[in-house]
Order: sequence, then structure tokens, then C-alpha cells
Amino acid sequence: MVIDKNLIGLWFFGIDDGSDWMGSLSRREDGRLVLDYRFRYGRAEDSPWLFKDKKNWYTMLLNEKTSLERALEISRSLAKLLSTAAKYKHRLPQGITAENETLVLKEIADLVLNDTGEGAPTVDEILVHDGDLDRFCKEVGAMPWAHVKVVEAPAVHIVKAGQSFCHLPGAPKDWPKEHKWVAPQDARFATCEICLLVHADRQATRRREEAAHN
Ligand SMILES: [Zn+2]
Repeated sequence: MVIDKNLIGLWFFGIDDGSDWMGSLSRREDGRLVLDYRFRYGRAEDSPWLFKDKKNWYTMLLNEKTSLERALEISRSLAKLLSTAAKYKHRLPQGITAENETLVLKEIADLVLNDTGEGAPTVDEILVHDGDLDRFCKEVGAMPWAHVKVVEAPAVHIVKAGQSFCHLPGAPKDWPKEHKWVAPQDARFATCEICLLVHADRQATRRREEAAHN
């Protein structure tokens, strides 16, 4: 998933064993809508459902006639379906193999079809409003699961007044040690995609304001 100006929204749910799921909807340069999603497993041996890798990304390229409204519906349905399936992970055999794949997927389908809707993890939805990525990052940062982002992408962040542009929780001293930081004037050394994006966005805004004054 890339957090950039093409991002439309993000969906997330946690699973009680520390695993989680994240999906994102974005629009490609050619206009097609894309839904990306992945599972993240705390420890592979704790995840007896679906695939055993620590993280698997999947990409669904939506039909070119799919409207944005319909794409949002699809994203929400997928998140709902998988969060329901997640509820039953303890009833599934140890992981998926080439031999049991059909059986396991059938069992998930049966469980989900007969599900009453109770007890599934809550799905959080965060949309990018009016292209405002700064606000989006703030909303993501305020989510209790925002540490996921930290764990996923150790990076060089841009820090101003003790806070990273990507809104990592806490001050730099509280971050996992793989994370580094630079001041805005050294932004060229930053690698955090969100920080760089927010930085570029702020610079563009400043240039627009300066142009308006002159
Ligand atoms: Zn950052």
C-alpha cells in the first residue's frame, strides 16, 4: 500500500491473537480503482488460519466501469467478510497447504454464510477527505492500532517540535530503535513515505500562499 495523493481510504481490523488486517482503496494514474489488502501475523505459529507467511499482500484491480461508490461498497464488504472469517480461525486446521486448501476455504465459506454477525472484530474506516493527507495521517495516528504502521516501516522520519509528520505516537525517544529522524530542512534524507508526502504537501501549500501574496 502506498499512502499518496491517489489514496481514497483505509480499512483495518485487529484479531485477538495480535494479528491484523489492512486494506486500502486507491486510484491508479490511469484512473482504475485498486483494492490492496494484507494480513499481518504477530507470530506465524499463532496464525492457524489462511496463509502462514507473516504478511501477504493481495491486489484486486477493479473493473474500469466500477464507480467510486461501488468500490467503497466492495472495500467495506471485503473487510466485513474477512473480519467475520477471522472470528473462526481457531476452528480451522493448521494453516493452508496445497492439499487442504479447498477444504479450508469451503469451511470458511460455510462458517461465514451461517454467521449471525456477532463477535466479529470491528472494522475501522478512514477516508481521505478532499485530498487532505495531513488530516488522514492524523486520523490514522489517533487509532489505537497505529503502531502497526511503525512496526511495518522502520524509516527516517521528518520531525518538527518533537512530532513526526506521519504522527508516530510519542517523541522520537519512544520509537522502536530502527526509526531515525531528521529536521524539515534535511527532508532530502527522509525515507518515511508519509512524512515526505506531508512535507511536500506543506511546501506546495506554502508556495501557493507565497504566490498569492506576490
Ligand atoms: Zn514518518
